[in-house]
Amino acid sequence: MTTQATTFEFKTEAKELLDLMIHSVYSHKEIFLRELISNASDAIDKLRFEALTRDDLRRFTTDPHIRLETDVKERTLTISDNGIGMNRDEIIQYIGTIAKSGTKDFGKLLKEAKGKEFTPELIGQFGVGFYSSFMVADKVTLISRRAGDDKASKWESSGDGTYSVSDADRFEPGTTVTLHLKPIDKDEKDQEGAEDVQDFTTEWTIREIVRKYSDFVQYPIRMKTERKEIERDEKGKPKEGAVEKTVVEDQTLNSMKAIWVRPEKDVTESEYKEFYKHISHDWNDPMKWITYRAESATNEFKSLLYLPGKAGHELFMNEAQRGIHLYIKRVFIMSDCKDLIPEYLRFVKGVVDSEDLSLNISREILQQNRQIQNIRKAVTRKVLDTLKGIRQDDREKFAGFWKEFGRIVKEGLFKEPADREKLFEVCVFPSTASTTEMTTLDEYISRMKPDQKQIYYMTGESRQAIEASPHLEAFRDKGYEVLLLSDPIDEIWIQFVYDFEEKGMQSAAKGVADLGTEEERKKAEEDRKSKETTYKTMLECLKAKLTEHVKDVRLSSRLTSSVSCLVGDVQDMSPQMEQLLKATGKDVPKVKRILELNPKHPLLDKLQGIFDKNKDDERLSEYAGLLFGQAILAEGGKLPDPATFNKKLIELMVNAL
Ligand code: ADP
Repeated sequence: MTTQATTFEFKTEAKELLDLMIHSVYSHKEIFLRELISNASDAIDKLRFEALTRDDLRRFTTDPHIRLETDVKERTLTISDNGIGMNRDEIIQYIGTIAKSGTKDFGKLLKEAKGKEFTPELIGQFGVGFYSSFMVADKVTLISRRAGDDKASKWESSGDGTYSVSDADRFEPGTTVTLHLKPIDKDEKDQEGAEDVQDFTTEWTIREIVRKYSDFVQYPIRMKTERKEIERDEKGKPKEGAVEKTVVEDQTLNSMKAIWVRPEKDVTESEYKEFYKHISHDWNDPMKWITYRAESATNEFKSLLYLPGKAGHELFMNEAQRGIHLYIKRVFIMSDCKDLIPEYLRFVKGVVDSEDLSLNISREILQQNRQIQNIRKAVTRKVLDTLKGIRQDDREKFAGFWKEFGRIVKEGLFKEPADREKLFEVCVFPSTASTTEMTTLDEYISRMKPDQKQIYYMTGESRQAIEASPHLEAFRDKGYEVLLLSDPIDEIWIQFVYDFEEKGMQSAAKGVADLGTEEERKKAEEDRKSKETTYKTMLECLKAKLTEHVKDVRLSSRLTSSVSCLVGDVQDMSPQMEQLLKATGKDVPKVKRILELNPKHPLLDKLQGIFDKNKDDERLSEYAGLLFGQAILAEGGKLPDPATFNKKLIELMVNAL
């Protein structure tokens, strides 16, 4: 029963990617099989999970397996599974479109990829497993039937810009992918030597690939194999008159051994890496793996956890999945179990295999289960300890990790207050102490001045912008270290963390900066008071001119060379936070800050001179506006009225000449 096929066009970017695949000259094309087997194994996982709550699907789960078939004459390789399958819409959605295409990263990657060797690392970044088939096939046919449906659908494409979808027949739920293999390229053969060119219709080749990449897959990967047999005598010689027979039998190509159960010393590095690629669908090697067994009386579990090398963009999307699979006594229960790991570690991949949980645990019960909560705690601690270890032993490696995942880890500082202490052993921040090295809060404290009671930080758009802001002048002058927090997430966690090891967290752009020894501070305070008496009425006049923009005008103890800056009260929202909230569409009340003026700056005496002569001198109002405007510019902010600011500035320039 095959009806007319409907033809669809691939989106432009998918088309370009396919074109790259088809023409790739990459020599390890064999990995396409790993991808298809992974998809098949996931599909079986999904069916088993759905069957937990759907009695009608249970009968399809009795003999889960993957089958490989080759046809030498037709030059085809077929991979089929009896997993969840897909209906027509799902085929169009999952196979007909590339999830990531259309994102900014995807377009950029495509541009970079053109003309380069199409290595797995590169292919992996596109987040396509299925399409890797086009490295070896010039036509791919997929027939699938969703478990619970009575109809099957067929998808077919020659990778030439279109694909077709039609009705099809399939006896049981699952998916069959048939690759119409490209002819063996003679040139390629000559170039690389005959051994290097693989023929994916030969049993031996397939067997080797499965052993290398998919040995641990927990469902049998079966293939019909042929072997010649002849009757032999006791000495092993062929019996007289015996005829050689061809025996065809089903063989399971993989050992199916759970990698986390095997003793660590027996598992090779490449097996660990391949397992990571299998469960994560990442084509890059992981940065590190952690084997961890907990064996307390009430909580026994084994786990194998991976820290990826690169952060996929899906980690930054809403509702990003968390990558820990749950097994109970070697039986797969569910993938991406979010109760096993906090959200701020959602990039961690791996498996947890519990000995104590009951096999028929349901998804709802998982959340409240004590055992699960204990596993989550232990796994979190283990990961954080490991990260701390890497930070201490291999700063460079840690820097690479932090660049990719730091902003996700920092979410934990406000999402999981209970983990905060441990998190601060991991988190590092740029600071004025070094242009290359980041610092932990502990390290910061070790460098604090004897009389320093607070940890100083400043938030801003970039390190450069923060460093250039006038707020840091006195800190720099007096040798106080300031953390330079330029990640948007820093704006958020810093609102929740008031202190660390009894040292308050204090923004350099908020409150009064009282730096120096007790004596110095006393003297500075006296100085300021006396100057304040001198300038009092003039400052009040400036304040009156700026009421729309600032809540006060006062003398500053943090400026050494600049004339003015804007500061908030300790509890005020920072301008960056204000912007961040506005960007999310929130209605944010305007935060008025305080304009601080540098008492040592010659401009103040000049203004006082004008003021003394005539309190209503128009220039006072203009200068007030300019001082406010340049304080905003100095911190890299946006002027509320740039045109007026400009006009006044030009007038001032003309008058000065
Ligand atoms: P990935 O596996 O990395 O998500 P793929 O391009 O390999 O990317 O597959 C896209 C999607 O197609 C999968 O996430 C899955 O939903 C679906 N899919 C692929 N192969 C199968 C299969 N054998 N059975 C059921 N669904 C499949």
